[in-house]
Amino acid sequence: MIDLRSDTVTKPTPAMRAAMAAAEVDDDVIDVDPTVDRLQRTTAELLGKEAALFMPSGTMTNQIAVRVHCKPGDELLCEAECHIFHYEQGAFAQLSGVVARTLSGEHGLLRPDQFVDQIRPDDVHQVRTRLVCLENTHNRGAGRVQPYAAVEKICRWAHEHGLRTHLDGARLFNAVVASGVAADRWAAHFDTVSVCYSKGLGAPVGSALAGPRELIAEARRHRKLFGGGMRQAGIIAAGALHALQYHRERLADDHANAQVLADAVRSAAGLTLSPDTVDTNMIIFTVDPALGTASQFTATLKNHGVWMLPTSPTRVRAVTHLDVSREQTRAAAAIIRQVADELASGTIAADRKEPT
Ligand SMILES: *Cc1c(COP(=O)(O)O)cnc(C)c1O
Repeated sequence: MIDLRSDTVTKPTPAMRAAMAAAEVDDDVIDVDPTVDRLQRTTAELLGKEAALFMPSGTMTNQIAVRVHCKPGDELLCEAECHIFHYEQGAFAQLSGVVARTLSGEHGLLRPDQFVDQIRPDDVHQVRTRLVCLENTHNRGAGRVQPYAAVEKICRWAHEHGLRTHLDGARLFNAVVASGVAADRWAAHFDTVSVCYSKGLGAPVGSALAGPRELIAEARRHRKLFGGGMRQAGIIAAGALHALQYHRERLADDHANAQVLADAVRSAAGLTLSPDTVDTNMIIFTVDPALGTASQFTATLKNHGVWMLPTSPTRVRAVTHLDVSREQTRAAAAIIRQVADELASGTIAADRKEPT
């Protein structure tokens, strides 16, 4: 099975497992685990921030960022399809009493002019606009990289108007490789930045929130409150450290493989790449209803050994990663074309059972 559902499906490499087995550990709640400490320092340095804090998930790093920037009754501005708004159960409302106002981007990309007049007046009837969240690369935007000049402009505008800024950089290192703009240059525009080690970098678990020392100290309190205090977490931190050290540059291979899949989709009957531009390790395409629904299409593909994720009744996502080689990518590309062509010509019927 060639598993292209997500870059979270990677398994730790033997070298990563060895690093994890050998990790020096201690109680990271009572005190600090030495390997976690090393990971936090390395991450903070890469992002040009004073401090960083290791957490179990990107959802937690994002939501704790919201928590440290906002009070109940505050509002954050974000893109309508972003992870914080779309994929985290409205946790900003459930856990922090914060509301969100969304702006619709083009495949997740926002323009500076969209923010004009989005700050609410100081008025007893209204919530207080407090925070701007951006996502880079954009997940539901098919891994698009935010234009650097737009990010710079949006964040400058936010700070000039007394707002805080947070970057959901779950896939920031993909943006770094694709754009040639270093992580600390992207991060410089934001008060806080979250990164994931368990996406393209291929570690089994973990994310970090980076920012100014006092904010990260506050985040450490909230991590305990949210249930994210972990004891001998050096075991998993060692996997993340290994990933930072050895798996950042190779993201370029994933990006090249995504182009191979994109070309296959462009030439396949009944499939439309959307967006047509592929920046990083992800593609999204729509399935013509004549071929069946997106989930019927992915079920049929799975019968042929390629696994993708339907993200709506008509849309399918495929993500390249550490555990998919160039040869497997080529094989997957051939299967995509074959299955689409056979469905379109009626040579085979779509798998009608809903996939598990
Ligand atoms: C995966 C992801 C996260 C965090 O997800 P977890 O599963 O909670 O680690 C956050 N933002 C984006 C854009 C993501 O893709």
